[in-house]
Amino acid sequence: MSPPPTQRADLLLKGGHVIDPANGIDAVMDIAIIGQHIAAVGAAASAMPARKTLDATGAIISPGFIDMHVHCYEWVTNFGVPADAAGIHSGATTIVDQGSSGAWTVGGFKAFIADPAKTDVRAFVSINVAGALQGGMEGTTLHNPKMVDFASFAHIAETYPQLVRGIKCHGESGGFSHWGTEVLGRAAETGKALGLPLYIHTGELFPVDEANRPTPSAVMGQVVPFLKPGDVLAHVYSSMPDGIMSVNESVPAWLHEARAQGVLFDLGHGINLSFAIARKMLEAGIMPDTLGSDVHGDFCSYHDFTILDYSLIGGFNKMLGLGIPMVDAIRALTATPARVLADPSIGHLSVGARANITLLREVEGSWTFIDCRRERLTVPRRILPDAVIMNGEIITPDCGLLSDVMSPNERPRGITRGLSLGAAAIGLAAQ
Ligand SMILES: [Zn+2]
Repeated sequence: MSPPPTQRADLLLKGGHVIDPANGIDAVMDIAIIGQHIAAVGAAASAMPARKTLDATGAIISPGFIDMHVHCYEWVTNFGVPADAAGIHSGATTIVDQGSSGAWTVGGFKAFIADPAKTDVRAFVSINVAGALQGGMEGTTLHNPKMVDFASFAHIAETYPQLVRGIKCHGESGGFSHWGTEVLGRAAETGKALGLPLYIHTGELFPVDEANRPTPSAVMGQVVPFLKPGDVLAHVYSSMPDGIMSVNESVPAWLHEARAQGVLFDLGHGINLSFAIARKMLEAGIMPDTLGSDVHGDFCSYHDFTILDYSLIGGFNKMLGLGIPMVDAIRALTATPARVLADPSIGHLSVGARANITLLREVEGSWTFIDCRRERLTVPRRILPDAVIMNGEIITPDCGLLSDVMSPNERPRGITRGLSLGAAAIGLAAQ
């Protein structure tokens, strides 16, 4: 009798600290990859012969990070960053563009951005047919009710089901001062009809008709009736007076009710994140469900990213610094956003899952972050990306957009040249 055929792994990750919240794993173990999928985890992986072995001692191994909020429709919008800069080169294997495209422009987004990118790129498509071509500017031209067309949206949702995972819309003072909740209501109807979640921007964005400015603390009250379970409210720790926390001293009652009904809250880091508001909300038990970065370029000049002082990894480290446990922060970057995207193949490291992995290292030493109100947060250590594995392929991120959380000389030096992961060296050994 011949022995049973032994499977051979293409890549074995050996000795890393695996944190996979979807599977309740937080332990040192091996992971074997065959082709583009996870082939074995734990003892079964250790027993598998491998073509390549990566010594991951000292590294944290997470399912590939998912950034729920980026803007990467370069050149068509005036604030898009390159998709792979926000994706694999920032430590994320999946990114979700929030509203850069609309039903009339998402075809171009697919052909020229999503398809050529190495990163897995998805879209929450703007409820207006054109998309957020000029960021928050031109809000009254682009985002008014005449720019909403259900049939166009239904068509693209049916045509590109893998790409189009939800609807981007707004709940803020500018739009409400011009046309009330009409656009938001149409977005909610579209979401219900097509079974897609809404991702709702909060905090003043569009130009306000001052004669009709809503009371800031009343704005969210107008948004809540439109929410369904699975919808996402953005910018949970925003300092904007018409935002989620608004000017309240304690977390408003509607928020607890919305959470209990399954509404999710995204960090949506961006330019309005306040540590003071985050602390207040964390004390009341309000953690972000997802940690979207809202990475985008300067609205005033195409392709200027020098102003970026926040990032996905920066936001992750800030949340750790504010006291969110590592496993919860990683869940908010993996299992929960995968659920929002309704994609069971990502966000975890089960056998059969896509081999999308973020490898991280811990760096001791204090580092100071600064928020939108110039408040400081000093942390004793940081967690930085050293590699991503994208559909089985090892990639060294250039970390070009991560200047808030690391200095240029801390960038990964390349897996084949011996990555430094804490005390241990990571190296590729052919077997
Ligand atoms: Zn945004």
